[in-house]
Amino acid sequence: MMVSIKNKLIIGYVLICFLSLGILNVFIVKTIKADNREIITNELKVLKERTENYTENYIETIVNYNTEPMDDILHELRIQLSRYYNEYNIVYDSCDKKVSSFHPDINVDELVSDSMSNLKKNIISYDINYLDNNVIVDFPITLKYRNSKIGTVRYFIDYTNLINIERKIQSIIFYFSFFLGILVVILSIVNSNRIVNSILKFKDFVEQIGDNNSNEMLDVTSQDEIGQLASNINLMKKRITMQIKEIKDDKRKIENISNYRKQFYENMTHELKTPLTTIMGYTELSLYEKVYNEDYLKIVNEESNRLFKLVTSILDMSYYGRDDIYRDTINFRVDELIIDVVSKMNLKAQKYNVNLLLHNNEILEIKGNKEGIKTILINLIDNSIKYNTEHGNIVLSSFVNASTWVLIVEDNGIGISDNDKTQIFKPFYRNSSVQSDMLKSSGLGLAIVKEIIDFHEGLVDVESTLGKGTKITIKIPLL
Ligand code: ADP
Repeated sequence: MMVSIKNKLIIGYVLICFLSLGILNVFIVKTIKADNREIITNELKVLKERTENYTENYIETIVNYNTEPMDDILHELRIQLSRYYNEYNIVYDSCDKKVSSFHPDINVDELVSDSMSNLKKNIISYDINYLDNNVIVDFPITLKYRNSKIGTVRYFIDYTNLINIERKIQSIIFYFSFFLGILVVILSIVNSNRIVNSILKFKDFVEQIGDNNSNEMLDVTSQDEIGQLASNINLMKKRITMQIKEIKDDKRKIENISNYRKQFYENMTHELKTPLTTIMGYTELSLYEKVYNEDYLKIVNEESNRLFKLVTSILDMSYYGRDDIYRDTINFRVDELIIDVVSKMNLKAQKYNVNLLLHNNEILEIKGNKEGIKTILINLIDNSIKYNTEHGNIVLSSFVNASTWVLIVEDNGIGISDNDKTQIFKPFYRNSSVQSDMLKSSGLGLAIVKEIIDFHEGLVDVESTLGKGTKITIKIPLL
């Protein structure tokens, strides 16, 4: 039979409570009883001593002890004893015949008196008689004169008050224990209900972690272990949810990488095939015609150059995109590199009738991959020339801001649409509306730029408006 945790807890609490209260009850009652018996015994001892002394002295004072009848002496003695020590008593002669008595309220025959028979065996004892309304102690003492027994006095002492106090304490303790027991039972039910309900709530909650994306958390309503457990479970859920999210993100990233690779290889094959097909076509044509044709050679040469540029770009991309490469960085003057690149690119700018201006070129030494930074400058300026309009301007700025090298290449060319802005860093992406073929673009320039920026743990930002121009900002942290 399965006993639920709740019942186990309640049974446990109740057993512990009743056992401890029961033991406490018995112990206290016994102690009070023993104390009262001790009080009675001590008082009776004093009474016995005094009675014996009084008897001895009283008989001594009677002048005609030998002539007066013994019954009269004992009667008189009983009156004296009654007056001095207790109101109710009986005196018996030496043959245990009742001589004199005073006990108006007590029916002596009703009393159990083991003490009288004990006394005959020289054992001094007393009996406690619980009558209807009172408690009477029956205490017999041998009356002696000069060590010979002259009779017996039997005292009836009222201990109702003392025993009543004992009974009252007993019942107070009993009722106190009883109500305490009931209270403990109620509290244990409430408490175990709370514990068990919390456990069940935690169980349901833990079961649905990971099943849904809800942000629902357990209420932490107390500061005790249950409250701590609830906050730990909440923490656990947060961590698990975060880990599940990370796993999902990683999965998505892996899927993206795999798609990206597939796309990349498809594009690359296509891009390589195009110039190769042209080269093959014209060389075959030359062989077939068996004549020297300069136009054919020009095309073959152009396509070979394009092919060479393409392969170089792919190699650059693969170089900067590798995670495992040794970071080939040096300290160099970036302002000098800019001047060098700008002067070389000026030739192309002039060819396209575009002004290339160096607006701000702070003297600055940075640590980085010099070839990479050069490639960035060339590709950005090249794009600003290619996608510009006649007599357009290109402005270049290089400065330091908050421990970051900032490079801005701004042109007032054809601009980039919002949709293209999100795509231009993808390999082989070219704006279809621009006659890219005419510009001999491969769509790899900005992809390489992005790889180099990532290599330097930098950031790139594109601001552009169609027909107005483009501003590309690159930020690379200074090491
Ligand atoms: P491409 O070899 O085609 O220039 P890029 O990766 O350098 O390849 O550029 C990708 C596309 O981004 C280009 O085809 C062009 O449409 C757009 N682009 C890049 N820079 C600019 C610019 N300064 N102004 C307008 N469009 C640009």
